[in-house]
Amino acid sequence: GGQETALAVSELSAGYQGIPVVRELNLAVGHGEVVALLGPNGAGKTTTLETIAGLHRPISGTIKVSGRDVAGTAAHVLARRGMALVPEGRALFPGLTVREHLRLAGGRGGRGSVGGNSRASERELLEMLPELAKCLDRKAGLLSGGEQQMLAVGRALVTRPSLLLVDEMSLGLAPVIVERLLPILRRVAGELGTSVLFVEQHVALALQIADRAYILTHGQISLEGPAARLRESRELLAASYLGET
Ligand code: ATP
Repeated sequence: GGQETALAVSELSAGYQGIPVVRELNLAVGHGEVVALLGPNGAGKTTTLETIAGLHRPISGTIKVSGRDVAGTAAHVLARRGMALVPEGRALFPGLTVREHLRLAGGRGGRGSVGGNSRASERELLEMLPELAKCLDRKAGLLSGGEQQMLAVGRALVTRPSLLLVDEMSLGLAPVIVERLLPILRRVAGELGTSVLFVEQHVALALQIADRAYILTHGQISLEGPAARLRESRELLAASYLGET
């Protein structure tokens, strides 16, 4: 033992102007584990992810990254400590090319950019995201939705994060595209050893990708367990409110 978990959230309450949206959450992500955070619209998934990423100060509770309490630490500091967030809506620059996005992210002082390693990791990255390799000189604004999402993930990976937080990759994308995108998270964990926590609307697909999952309803964890078990769960099947498509 002794190996700390990649992320350990305990008794976390978070929200806005001191009013909690999520209450007393307990969740963990092991090293190299892929964990899904699922639940209906408005349950508080984005609030949870953004609070872990340091974008909101928690109301109470602790957030430990590799054993170190980071609750209340600024997002840019967390980024230097190996945490990366792929935000809902992707936040790309339409006028910059794919290559420019990757270079900009690599220059931000992440582990990948140390001592000129950013190119090596860029090459490694493009092997994992071959569709990006084909459009390196295209402007982000001209990419398809799926390619844009892939770029958002690629940009987060350039800094070689140890913990990757992904908010709703599938937003606005056709299910056939989502089926191609979500497995990237599995590869990221398997090939880079990155721990992944991802928010997803497509419950069935998410449970095919994840090792474990948490279901958030009305700001609290209502169900959790290994993805294989949740796939069979009658409670989850009954929860048709989950926005399954
Ligand atoms: P969705 O899938 O729709 O993004 P979600 O589970 O991610 O849902 P959140 O986006 O975290 O849920 O929103 C949870 C609640 O917090 C909602 O009631 C929302 O109105 C509220 N909320 C979100 N952002 C803010 C904000 N900046 N200020 C105040 N309330 C907010």
